[in-house]
Amino acid sequence: MVTFLRRIYQNTLTALHFFYRIARGIDHKILNHYILKISQAQDINSIIYQVSRCLYYIFDYQFFTFALYDKEYNGSVDVWLDPKTDNLSLIDFIKKDFSPQNLYWNVNYFNHTPYGSCDDPDDIAAKTLSFKVLDNQTCAILYILPRRKMLGYHNNLLNMIVRIVAAALSNFISMKKLENAALIDPLTHSYNRRALDQFINHDIANAERYGAELGVIMFDIDYFKQVNDLHGHKAGDAALRAVSRSVLAAIRKSDYLARYGGEEFVLVLPGTKFSKAIELAERLRQITENLKINFGDSTISVTASFGIAAFKKGINRYTLLQKADEMLYEAKRQGRNRIKPDLRLYHALSDAPFPSMGGEGSLSQ
Ligand code: GH3
Ligand code: MG
Ligand code: MG
Repeated sequence: MVTFLRRIYQNTLTALHFFYRIARGIDHKILNHYILKISQAQDINSIIYQVSRCLYYIFDYQFFTFALYDKEYNGSVDVWLDPKTDNLSLIDFIKKDFSPQNLYWNVNYFNHTPYGSCDDPDDIAAKTLSFKVLDNQTCAILYILPRRKMLGYHNNLLNMIVRIVAAALSNFISMKKLENAALIDPLTHSYNRRALDQFINHDIANAERYGAELGVIMFDIDYFKQVNDLHGHKAGDAALRAVSRSVLAAIRKSDYLARYGGEEFVLVLPGTKFSKAIELAERLRQITENLKINFGDSTISVTASFGIAAFKKGINRYTLLQKADEMLYEAKRQGRNRIKPDLRLYHALSDAPFPSMGGEGSLSQ
């Protein structure tokens, strides 16, 4: 009887070992497949997407998050979540791992997986494993809550994945930083003037050739010298960053913002009707006016004036920017904290009924 039981026990062990080896073989095959995909990925989004797929097939995760912060790269914390969730406490528990001054969060979703059985955010937060992917200047952390039971080799496998992502990301980020250094304004993270010249030439050529719409908004912070005089230059810098950040958060991906001079910005809106550019300028005026910029013990408020122009066949970059500049000058002259569209141009283009404006956004000529 004892011999019989021992044989059953040994056979079971052999079978388990056999299945363990099969599982390990399958998981390594999945890993190899995704190592190739990760190395071929062309941008950060695709890198993280491939990582999430790899982990999903190996661990059948309930929850996956990747968070990345690099001051020089884009100045915000980028977060990828799967599955999609509106539950802010899930983001809050990630926030604890990042320094509190990084207030700007950019959340992306892959949204492949349906919400699993473990949908209590506190439960998820308690059970989720986290792995530091990159350290020092780039802070990147991977969070995963596996549904599958963790086997002995899984830790090694996870560490291997983490090293692969780290290599892919750091290559990509250093490449991006080199590109950024030439085109991005380091203070506001908007484009610099050189980038604007490059991009707008391309958009004007497009508008000229295909008749595409092209709106331009030039804006300048009002009485900015007083902000510096009253609160100091560092506070002025913080105000510039806050204005740029809130404009960047309010525009479409196809629009772009460039710092044109000290506290003057140009916003280019490819494919945007003039009436829509006017509406956006008014929205940005209100956003700027309502900004509360905390600096030390002070809360700073600013306003800005906006000039709006649009491309018309035959005009070049200089004329287009000059038109927006003239309108900005008019907005300043009429008292500041207002928008000023080129109404002659508006009537010439006449693309929609005149947008209705509330509040102080004066449109009177
Ligand atoms: P207006 O409403 O006519 O635009 O008045 P303003 O005071 O904003 O304009 P002015 O041109 O007189 O002053 C602009 C100020 O912006 C002066 C300059 O010191 C400040 N400035 C320019 N670039 C920066 C910067 O990078 N950081 C800080 N803190 N201040 C800057
Ligand atoms: Mg100014
Ligand atoms: Mg100025």
